[in-house]
Amino acid sequence: MAEIQLKNVSKRWGAFVGVDNFNLTIADREFLVLLGPSGCGKTTTMRMIAGLEDATDGEIAIGDRVVNNLEPKDRDIAMVFQSYGLYPNMNVYDNIRFPLKVRKVDPSTHDERVMRAADMVELREFLHRKPAELSGGQRQRVALARAIVREPNVFLMDEPLSNLDAKLRVSTRAQIKNLQHELQVTTIYVTHDQIEAMTLADRVVVMQRGIIQQVGTPTDIYDKPANTFVAGFIGSPAMNLMNGTLKGGTFTGEHVEIAGLSGPDGPVTLGFRAEDAAVAQSSAEAEINAPVYTMELLGDATMITVKAGGALVSVKASKDYRIEIDETVGLHIPPEICHLFHHETGARLD
Ligand code: ATP
Repeated sequence: MAEIQLKNVSKRWGAFVGVDNFNLTIADREFLVLLGPSGCGKTTTMRMIAGLEDATDGEIAIGDRVVNNLEPKDRDIAMVFQSYGLYPNMNVYDNIRFPLKVRKVDPSTHDERVMRAADMVELREFLHRKPAELSGGQRQRVALARAIVREPNVFLMDEPLSNLDAKLRVSTRAQIKNLQHELQVTTIYVTHDQIEAMTLADRVVVMQRGIIQQVGTPTDIYDKPANTFVAGFIGSPAMNLMNGTLKGGTFTGEHVEIAGLSGPDGPVTLGFRAEDAAVAQSSAEAEINAPVYTMELLGDATMITVKAGGALVSVKASKDYRIEIDETVGLHIPPEICHLFHHETGARLD
């Protein structure tokens, strides 16, 4: 059983707060992703769980043990980093076996365990090569196998895919997801890539400046972002956000008027997703009328971006839709696709 609990965990260096009062329980066997921009405190949170960094305040428990004062090696975790951390002078077999030697695991079991881990990441034919003779993707798989071979209670992974090219990233991502499902090991995974977070996670923790902004399933976070930061971070493209005024259920801003909303009168930030909106079929259903800023062909769709005052607003149109830059286009933004946020705090209003 490897539930992980963080209670009021903070990390400060002098006056600088890297992680601010982090509270979370990660369920046994859960795949939890820490997501946020560079410097938001993801790696520091993970390093505190690993024991590579001391928490300034708070309590960290793995299973039923408080681990604050335990050495990393006694926490029963295995880590995978973006820099693979392989030993260049050892072949793949010995790299994978290394944790078993260090932990003085019965040598008669090594061969079977190394082979099982190597098979899981499809490395059997490379066992005699040195890391320098492998591709980046193969090296990352050796690092994964070295984590698997220990049969730990917890996997910690810090941007393990960031050194791989786009195609390999997608296939290795699928492999990590499949492995975690098979091994049923509690996993904490750090990334700044929202697509990686959405595809891998049971739950995502979105962080900004050391503070948790939202915790939820990928669907929760996509459908109901807690604030404008999360709305602007999740989705590709991220949610469109426009400032304006709500009065009697009608939102008015530059180049935009949307009726049928419910919310308090006054200044608000309105959001909607490109894929929920459409190019208007007639001027009567156009809530936004604005000049085209750019048009991008995506293959399965065309992304139209207009300049509505200070905001750039994108809408997905059909793949064969064409329009010229600077031409005015009407966009249909029905009220039911809109999200409302506080104009200053950015907090979700409904
Ligand atoms: P990235 O995606 O760039 O790795 P991150 O979200 O993982 O970012 P952290 O590495 O956790 O961010 O760093 C959080 C903040 O703490 C950053 O602003 C960083 O500069 C700061 N920080 C990290 N280590 C130290 C340190 N030893 N001393 C002072 N500040 C630090």
